[in-house]
Amino acid sequence: MKHSVPRIHAEHLPALLRAMPKAELHMHIEGSLEPELIFALAERNGVQLPYADVEALRAAYAFTDLQSFLDIYYAGASVLLHEQDFYDMARAYLNRAVADNVVHTEIFFDPQTHTARGVGMETVINGLYRACRDAEIEQGISASLILSFLRHLSEEEALQTLEDALPLRDRFIGVGLDSSEVGNPPEKFARVFGRCRELGLHLVAHAGEEGPPAYIWGALDVLHVERIDHGVQAEKDPVLMQRLVDEQIPLTVCPLSNLKLCVVDSLAAHNLPQLLKAGLKVTVNSDDPAYFGGYVNENYLQLFEATGMGAQEAYQLARNSLEASFVAAAQKEQWIALLDETFAQFARRTGDV
Ligand SMILES: [Zn+2]
Repeated sequence: MKHSVPRIHAEHLPALLRAMPKAELHMHIEGSLEPELIFALAERNGVQLPYADVEALRAAYAFTDLQSFLDIYYAGASVLLHEQDFYDMARAYLNRAVADNVVHTEIFFDPQTHTARGVGMETVINGLYRACRDAEIEQGISASLILSFLRHLSEEEALQTLEDALPLRDRFIGVGLDSSEVGNPPEKFARVFGRCRELGLHLVAHAGEEGPPAYIWGALDVLHVERIDHGVQAEKDPVLMQRLVDEQIPLTVCPLSNLKLCVVDSLAAHNLPQLLKAGLKVTVNSDDPAYFGGYVNENYLQLFEATGMGAQEAYQLARNSLEASFVAAAQKEQWIALLDETFAQFARRTGDV
């Protein structure tokens, strides 16, 4: 059932997209490291980078596919050594999120990227967790952590990572699956997700970004995930599309990421409007904002500019993001009321009613 949305003139749409309260559900904290912060942390920690300066690093951000991005992503993460580094990285992202009117964010982190370099699990989690709590107290944003397993590594390593993180179980709300998708199907991680399910953790997984619809089926039926990260390849499978509609499985779509990694040729050709129109519970997210050209509002702005979507779609996407979050129903209702009020106020202020 469609919620009726006040009429807003197209010229006011960018301001509305910026102002509306939203949740971000697909953002890798290591992917929020801006080149300036990478160089600052490298200097603080005495880490030698394979790039001469900030400009040289930024110039290397011309990716051809997921793997070409991941190679630079792991090089950037090498500057993170101490709890304060993780804290500073997360606070920098949370400041951006607050500025984008994100009321709630569920942040992915990749412990294996750090533990493989000798950084302790508690160093990673405590730094990130402390940043979330401080931002909540000082800026009023709600933030939680989702531990992600690297799918190009083995399931044994994922199981070990989970064991290492369990003493800090109260500091993360769920687990995810990311990194190189093709050739690493969800089935590879059936046991570790089964264990996480027993532990009562929330479950999500990247599927159908570059990989086939079969990976989305696998994520749903073998891993029993509650949300699909990306999922844009679902369009190739009508039976899957119907299931995603029937069960209202949220898709955390990342338009600028899809563009930058050549999953789509242009934003105008992105299938998000079609997925939304078909009744899928689609959301807009930034994925790795420092690398892909923008934080969440930039994703909304560029996507709407390119596709010609309007206020109705803006409302639906923001509402979907709040509904698809892992917070209590009463909290969701509060944020949806705030969303409704924002639209109503906006229409009054800009004289569109
Ligand atoms: Zn991602």
